[in-house]
Amino acid sequence: MYELAGNMHMHTFYSDGEKWHADIAADAIAAGLDFIIVTDHNVWVDGVEGYYENENGRVLLLTGEEIHNVRREPQASHLLVYGVETELADCAPYPQQLIDAVRAHGGCCFLAHPHEKDCRIFPYPNLGWHDWPVENYTGLEIWNYMSSFVSALVDALERLPVQIELLDKLTAVRLAFNPQKFVVGPEPRTLALWDELLAKGKRVTAVGNSDAHGTPMSFGPLKRIIFPYEFLFRAVNTHVLLERPLTGDLAYDKQLILKAIGQGHSFVGYDLPHPTKGFRFSATSKGKGIMGQEVRLNAGATLQISTPTRANIRLIRHGEVVASMQNDTHLTHIPTEPGAYRVECTLPYLGKERGWIYSNPIYLL
Ligand SMILES: [Zn+2]
Ligand SMILES: [Zn+2]
Repeated sequence: MYELAGNMHMHTFYSDGEKWHADIAADAIAAGLDFIIVTDHNVWVDGVEGYYENENGRVLLLTGEEIHNVRREPQASHLLVYGVETELADCAPYPQQLIDAVRAHGGCCFLAHPHEKDCRIFPYPNLGWHDWPVENYTGLEIWNYMSSFVSALVDALERLPVQIELLDKLTAVRLAFNPQKFVVGPEPRTLALWDELLAKGKRVTAVGNSDAHGTPMSFGPLKRIIFPYEFLFRAVNTHVLLERPLTGDLAYDKQLILKAIGQGHSFVGYDLPHPTKGFRFSATSKGKGIMGQEVRLNAGATLQISTPTRANIRLIRHGEVVASMQNDTHLTHIPTEPGAYRVECTLPYLGKERGWIYSNPIYLL
């Protein structure tokens, strides 16, 4: 298999980002990514896709879109849309119709940052998914680094007893300079929802992203970009596994990547604590299956996990841990029940146990 590291959620000047495509591509090259998908709010930007190169390497830049209903209050329920090749923002007022239109156009879509916190202290809207129920979407953005940061900020502020006016700025500054100290993993409610849907027999694919905007913020004399694109491209990414290598042909390579994303031949990796490249989760039965595939459960079926460095590995079926290893690089398990099996790996980083790798499921039938 050929592994590519990519990031699939970011913004340019076309919406509320702070850079143009070519500059973001240079940041992605600097961070070592293989592909990025730019998702401006309610605008599908045509004509910018392709390979961007400089002396440090090249990256494949694709465009998708992050769609939501701008007349909704708050402007929540954001949908990440890929592979549609046309503008669908007109469908935004009716989320289920929007999802169905994406699928009818052969695209895939993910509920962006589905669970956010309500904040009592400062007026920041909860931009999670509010328009339940919906169905027929490809999956969930289980980890959005910017959303994790905001949640950590809300938690920190709500723990503060007094002098909020002064302390919230100090906390914000500390957080802004050290986001990696505060972000511990995906939102637990999103993982719980994922497990609940998998237990019902649904196929639900996970992605993890930066949601990079490059937005500058100032705290008194301090001014800082929160957070630079390049920093975020070294944090939470989606790694896809391809059957064939990229060829350099835009149309061909694009289909290869979009298919792997839609099928869930991928995992979410937090590359900052330790690179996640090389993680594998597979099933051996009659033939071999990878993440996102269905594999027949028979007497010889074995699930195998290997990680690029020592970690705490948990194999999860429908929310239950069925096997685990502490501080190891391998886990092998012989499953006895059908269902969707997924892997979570955590490791200690900056004094805390942090989420590191979240695989897509293998579906044992
Ligand atoms: Zn969003
Ligand atoms: Zn966004």
